[in-house]
Amino acid sequence: MIRRYSANPRKLLNKIPKQPLSSSPKQHSEQEDTLITSLLQKCPNMTTLRQIHAHFLKCPSPSSHYALSKILAFAALSPSGDIAYARRVFDQIPHPNIFTWNSLIRGCSLIQTPTKEPISIYKHLVNSCFPSPNTFTIAFVLKACSIVMAFFEGRQIHSHACKYGLDSSPFVQTGLLSFYAKCEEISMAKLVFDEITDRNLIVWSAMISGYARIGMVNEALGMFREMQEVGISPDEVTMVSVISACAKVGALDLGKWVHAFIDRKGIRIDMELSTALIDMYAKCGLIEKAREVFDEMEVRDTMAWSSMVVGLAIHGLVKDALELFSRMLQMKVKPNHVTFIGILSACAHSGLVSEGRRLWSTMRELGIEPMMEHYGCIVDLLCRTGHFEEAYTFVNNMPIFPNSIIWRTLLVGCKNSRSHDKAEIIAKHLLELEPLNAENYVLLSNVYASGSQWEKVSGMRKKMKDNEVKVVPGLSSIEIDGYVHEFAVGDESHPEMKEIRKILRDISERVQRTGHQPWTLSVLHDVDQEEKENALCEHSERLAIAFGMLKTKAPVVIRVVKNLRACVDCHEVTKIISKLYGREIIVRDRVRFHRFVEGTCSCNDFW
Ligand code: ZN
Ligand code: ZN
Repeated sequence: MIRRYSANPRKLLNKIPKQPLSSSPKQHSEQEDTLITSLLQKCPNMTTLRQIHAHFLKCPSPSSHYALSKILAFAALSPSGDIAYARRVFDQIPHPNIFTWNSLIRGCSLIQTPTKEPISIYKHLVNSCFPSPNTFTIAFVLKACSIVMAFFEGRQIHSHACKYGLDSSPFVQTGLLSFYAKCEEISMAKLVFDEITDRNLIVWSAMISGYARIGMVNEALGMFREMQEVGISPDEVTMVSVISACAKVGALDLGKWVHAFIDRKGIRIDMELSTALIDMYAKCGLIEKAREVFDEMEVRDTMAWSSMVVGLAIHGLVKDALELFSRMLQMKVKPNHVTFIGILSACAHSGLVSEGRRLWSTMRELGIEPMMEHYGCIVDLLCRTGHFEEAYTFVNNMPIFPNSIIWRTLLVGCKNSRSHDKAEIIAKHLLELEPLNAENYVLLSNVYASGSQWEKVSGMRKKMKDNEVKVVPGLSSIEIDGYVHEFAVGDESHPEMKEIRKILRDISERVQRTGHQPWTLSVLHDVDQEEKENALCEHSERLAIAFGMLKTKAPVVIRVVKNLRACVDCHEVTKIISKLYGREIIVRDRVRFHRFVEGTCSCNDFW
């Protein structure tokens, strides 16, 4: 319950005596301080605060310093406060104490669009030598570092904490753990975690969310179990982390188990947790279940709507995504940039060029300034629908400098439309921005190969060698019996590799008998034809699919998550496998879902 005060500040201010109440000045000052504290506790808004402030400026008293620090704290930290006002008050205080510094540091990290300001204030404090930071200072500035992901600064603050002897305070330790977890420095986070003797819910949750952030789902769940073994019950914040870990790696069975756990334990499903569940079911390929959670929600905010729209979009359910978007507008829920990434990419994936153009033109009307991702969707849409020239002009007229993803999309469009004259200039931009990404060299080689420019193809190969470009290894994961197995090309470490190989050989023989010709153009290495085919057969998703076939039987759906885009050959072969072996296979690649049933894919080969 929110308590409302209808305090009349003037009446309260009059209580502050103009003359000392007692003979002892110390006692007088204490009485005054108590009065100021209660006055500010009852202060409802900035208008009243300004009146209180004005009073102390007009009639300075021995308590003015204390009053100013309290006024600053209200302006900096109260939900109805004003941080700019707090900064001005700070400048009026000749020798701010540590409480005042802390209020300002904390207040500046609570603003809508966070900056590094709290860190600069902290530096200022350290440079001024007095007062010394305390545990609260360190915890607040670490929090500020996690918000803006200032890893370098946070690490320095860690060493300050040691220097000041504050590093064994539970408050600082929790701050350090959350900071390292947020910055994805999981081994550092674990070191701090191991040092904490009295681990509370916040500590466990921070560690779990750290694992969840980078998708180490087995570790996140292991930690989740361990936490319950020591008798700490999870809350909805912990559950959001666990659910999002499942979403990241596409671990549907684990996700379902966690959902059942939430129901069983009666954990409150708030808006954030519902949204996490929608996202998990969508990303694990169970869009119907995502819809069910969405429909059951009583109140939905922008994030909930956006997660649902994006979920439908990545499943290629474009009509549903667009319908839901119109309903969102009808319900007067304001879309945000995520919603627009959802609907624009849905249009791009299904080639709805006029609808995409229309939505693009409404973005600014709805108060959303297009970001890089939105420009990327439009370039993708235009390229896919054969409007390469328009896409090219669009990119050259962008008000922000296009990123590598946009140039790469344009290069794909260039290849498909056979506009080889533009390839050089696009390639120049792309390789300038990303000289070490092997994908770019592969793509460019393909552009040149499709124009039979063989000299340029070998030129690319040489450049790649000279720049020591490493190919990003493809990684695919599959969940079997509550454990997520990861596969990489050429990784022999899986204990059941021999059996997997057997299945791969069987697949390869049966697929060949259907007359399938391996599409080897994308295999760039200087190897002979047979080796090229072998390299294709061991792309990580094939290992994961084979393992799924080894461990499960139809009608169990084989669900695989891959970190890169599926290559043309794997896409073709997976279609054939789904028909030959009568298995439904769902592959989530970097961009979207492919649902392979009876020899066809839900993306209609448009991805
Ligand atoms: Zn492949
Ligand atoms: Zn597909």
